[in-house]
Amino acid sequence: MSGIYIHIPFCKQACSYCDFYFVTRTSERESFIRRLIREITNYRDSKYADETVDTIYFGGGTPSLLEPVQVERILDELDRTFKLDIRELTFEVNPDDVTPEFLRALKELGVTRLSMGVQSFQPDLLEFMHRAHSREEALRCLELLSQSEFESYTVDLIYGNPEQDLQDLDKDLDLLLGFDPPHVSAYSLTIEPGTRLGKQVKLGRIAPPEDDKVADHFDLVNERLQAKGIRRYEVSNYSKPGREAVHNSNYWEHENYLGLGPAAHSFWWDQKAVRWEEERNLCGYLRGEDISSKPEELTTKQLAEERLMMGLRTRRGVSVKELKERYHYQLSEKQMVYVKERENEQKLHFDEHIRLTDKGIKIADAIILDLVTLH
Ligand code: SF4
Repeated sequence: MSGIYIHIPFCKQACSYCDFYFVTRTSERESFIRRLIREITNYRDSKYADETVDTIYFGGGTPSLLEPVQVERILDELDRTFKLDIRELTFEVNPDDVTPEFLRALKELGVTRLSMGVQSFQPDLLEFMHRAHSREEALRCLELLSQSEFESYTVDLIYGNPEQDLQDLDKDLDLLLGFDPPHVSAYSLTIEPGTRLGKQVKLGRIAPPEDDKVADHFDLVNERLQAKGIRRYEVSNYSKPGREAVHNSNYWEHENYLGLGPAAHSFWWDQKAVRWEEERNLCGYLRGEDISSKPEELTTKQLAEERLMMGLRTRRGVSVKELKERYHYQLSEKQMVYVKERENEQKLHFDEHIRLTDKGIKIADAIILDLVTLH
């Protein structure tokens, strides 16, 4: 089984924190669709088309800037090219694009799950993040979603904004939980150098959020969601039982996936494991150039370390047996001592799996780094 990720590189405006690849020239959407369809067709009769595809993810950028008929053309071409047996088809939407007709059309096209970027309901924070939607649009969109036929959807929230205090976050959680969402992705704001926020931090106009404050936000999100039966299953992802994201979980388990469109990444592991990415270059893509990077071949050790890193970010953790059998990776003596010490501090559990506890997951990156370097 494999997955397909499709990057739709258009946005109405640039959010101040965003490091994804997009352009704001939305007039090129139709040329993009035609080129994307050619890219899909090129996979016909390739080894990638031999494997059954069970998840598709439309991300971006802003997929909800497409017309349903354009989405239909993409899906038709995927159906002609690949063997589809779809378990999950996710489509990212922004609140300012959603109408009842749009949701109905997506449902009819076979979309099973929506991912909505809300980030906050507080007008000043939305402005700070330069989001294109208002608080009212976010609330109206959630209302529509909760009344729609979509049983599976996720809402993105951002916490740890320099201007955001714990009460702001609590109010956001109150509003969100009022809709009883099946899945929430909550991210701590990261400040990337090339973004508008990154530039402001560099100029000293704003200070990056303090670690203690971010840790308090992280705890509050966990507490409030957990109390509603929405449990963390990965550092930033929370769901009700059975509503976990399949496509993203497959990334963490090294399942094969193809990325289509500029800036998309692919990973394929058969005789050897390779990863490649499409350049962040819509112009070249539209001109029909091959914008794929040279595939990077990954060693078993690299794969094992990645699996350890990704697995420790999840509630299931990582199985020692899997590390040994699939990756030929055995924990060293030093690693075992480290694991025992963290277990004594109640930061992780160790049986057949190594799993971080709530206490450990807060410092997941530090534990992962220590573990990997001790091998
Ligand atoms: S809408 Fe999404 S992809 Fe577009 S700029 Fe904002 S965060 Fe980035």
